[in-house]
Amino acid sequence: MSELAELYVVFVVLYLFECLAWVPRRTVGFLALLGRRRARIAFRPNAGWSSSVAIGQPWPPLAPPWFAEPLPFAVDLLGITLTEGDGRRLAWEKLAPITARDARVESGESLTCKLASRHAAAGLAEALEKIRVADAKKREVELRRFLDARFDVAAARTQRKLFDRSVRSLRVLSNALWLALFGGVGAAVGTQNLLYLVAVAALTLLLWPVNAFVFTRTLRKQTWLAKGQGPELSKRLVTMLSPLSAVRAVDVLARELWANWDPFTVAALLLGPRELRSFARPLLVAALPREGDPLAWWRAELRRRMELILAEQNIDVEELLAPPAREGSHVSQYCPACLAQYERGAGVEGNCPNETCFAIPLRAFFSDERERSSTEGKS
Ligand SMILES: [Zn+2]
Repeated sequence: MSELAELYVVFVVLYLFECLAWVPRRTVGFLALLGRRRARIAFRPNAGWSSSVAIGQPWPPLAPPWFAEPLPFAVDLLGITLTEGDGRRLAWEKLAPITARDARVESGESLTCKLASRHAAAGLAEALEKIRVADAKKREVELRRFLDARFDVAAARTQRKLFDRSVRSLRVLSNALWLALFGGVGAAVGTQNLLYLVAVAALTLLLWPVNAFVFTRTLRKQTWLAKGQGPELSKRLVTMLSPLSAVRAVDVLARELWANWDPFTVAALLLGPRELRSFARPLLVAALPREGDPLAWWRAELRRRMELILAEQNIDVEELLAPPAREGSHVSQYCPACLAQYERGAGVEGNCPNETCFAIPLRAFFSDERERSSTEGKS
């Protein structure tokens, strides 16, 4: 391999690294590697890791990976329940003021929680503080308003439009820089002509500072992100530090875009009907009523908003939650969330063992109506 080709490979590897985005584990990433309709959920390389990774579309038009984060805890009329921790409920009356520090939401000693961005932490802390200081009567109104905003598809759509408009020039420049780098070096490798390489270097040295300038200007002029809530200075500097990271400047801004929306809302905007159905099923199942559930209010509120969004997308909830076609008489139970089917006596009892199905009880297949009614009579 010639030295030029080696250089090219190094470029590609460094660049692919720039396309990756690491986010907290709960974050959902929507990937569009082959166009918008083929979006996928973020990949967690290892079940034990605290982070997930997503890759932005590496070739023009350089679509960024989109992210949305579910709430890190449950909220209801009584307080905040640490669903990611030990399940304790922190009563509103006993909580210290709720504030944001960098990407963390904090309340005295009792609550500290890291989110995907400063923007997300600031939005969440502000909303929770409003709920905390409200008197018991107004609290329910504030809570509902907070949840309504997280599930507001129309507002999310407007946000997307503002974003697209604000990054238009930056996107054009990033694509030009991409073409100069990969097209130019590629041509130099193919022809073994050093003149091409000199031309690429000259073009890159011209486009790179222009890109950095437009990136800074875009951040200053955008209207969808409050001042002081944008990417940290270190992130902004790293973005401008090399031509390869400058190519992904739009990603850095895109990370902030959905900070205040639930992944379900973003899914309704970005996913096609088929993807949305399989994305929605486990979330809907997790929000179904359970017996003696201390979080019944919270689940019911989530479910109602999810069902509204699905209805707007013409997805029938009952059909979505229907049991899968039974693979044969050897399987006796199925998971309502991931639709995996299990044999009786296969050592799987109670909850679905799939990593993505957290505490989802398996359901039995019924061979006929008589069996169904006798089992239902017992439970
Ligand atoms: Zn499952």
